[in-house]
Amino acid sequence: MKHMIRLLEMTYDNLAAALADRYGKGTYHASMVYKEFYKNRNPRAWTARGIEASTGLVAQLRRDLAFAPGNVVDEVVQDGVAKFVTALADGHRIESVILPLETHHTICVSSQAGCRMGCRFCETARMGFVRHLTVEEIVGQVYTARQRYGDFIRNVVFMGMGEPFDNFDAVIQAVRVLSDQRGLDIAQRYITVSTAGRIDGIEKLSALDMPHLKLAVSLNAPNDTLRNTLMPINNTAPLAMLQKALKAYPLKKGYNIMVAYVLIAGVNDSSDCARQLTDWLAPLRAKVNLIPFNPGTGTSALYRPPTETEIEIFRQKLIDAGVNVQKRLSRGCDLMAACGQLSSRKTTRR
Ligand code: SAH
Repeated sequence: MKHMIRLLEMTYDNLAAALADRYGKGTYHASMVYKEFYKNRNPRAWTARGIEASTGLVAQLRRDLAFAPGNVVDEVVQDGVAKFVTALADGHRIESVILPLETHHTICVSSQAGCRMGCRFCETARMGFVRHLTVEEIVGQVYTARQRYGDFIRNVVFMGMGEPFDNFDAVIQAVRVLSDQRGLDIAQRYITVSTAGRIDGIEKLSALDMPHLKLAVSLNAPNDTLRNTLMPINNTAPLAMLQKALKAYPLKKGYNIMVAYVLIAGVNDSSDCARQLTDWLAPLRAKVNLIPFNPGTGTSALYRPPTETEIEIFRQKLIDAGVNVQKRLSRGCDLMAACGQLSSRKTTRR
């Protein structure tokens, strides 16, 4: 038996090829079905207008179209930040966060259930690795968000649970589907893939023709001794190698690599750290996102968030050294929806 057709895994071209291959149909039917599914947000896409006359096709699609992004089982909103929890078909739970900005919303999606990176300060790491998400489960988070919040959802960041480059192929296919103009139409320049520093992933991405897709790297420590203790990946992909891979990355004119730096009081916020960070960034075209450490249920005993003054002092040192830096708002703190706080064990219920 042929596989089901999973529209959430398909670009328009993929669908057109599938309809031609299976049912001998031309692109007209594909475009009606794709539009019904993505523009009208109707999962029962065989009910698309304009294909009723092809009764055979309608029956086949009704039988063959599968739609299983999981069920939203919990949703909490606070200060405008929404977090929704999706139960996947096998019962595992993942989280997505929606951050409203003035003209649009950003959705932070998960690429894995759990994560195997083991970063010491991160709540998701404490869950360990559960499994990769499928393309359908990744794109499904955005589809579901669009159903609930409409076209305000404009930006997608792969900064939820998981390491996107551990699940490279699914993440890249998800980017292609998300950015398909006939569907969700989220331009690649509005999509950011964030890595803890998998160099092979950075290199693989370099080789793809996706010059507008944004790349973010979670640095969090400016020397190997400290980074080895905070982020185990540094033992095999140390700072010099990471820097070299980023230098070789074919960055479009006017674009920057986003460098995330989670500021942890007394750990990585010294003057030395600011200087080392400045030096490490010097050969790169990068923009630093300073993220104040968010204590989680399991990490709060280990680390302390910086005060506003401590953040300002560190930020000012970077500015004085000519570094392009911005402080990221970490809203969603009380919801456990902020960076590094996504863990399916901790769900605030109202
Ligand atoms: N694995 C990828 C994608 C996850 S992004 C990556 O590491 O980039 C999640 C972001 O939240 C990362 O930049 C991470 O460094 C940051 N983060 C993790 N734990 C945090 C915490 N407790 N407080 C603030 N930021 C945290």
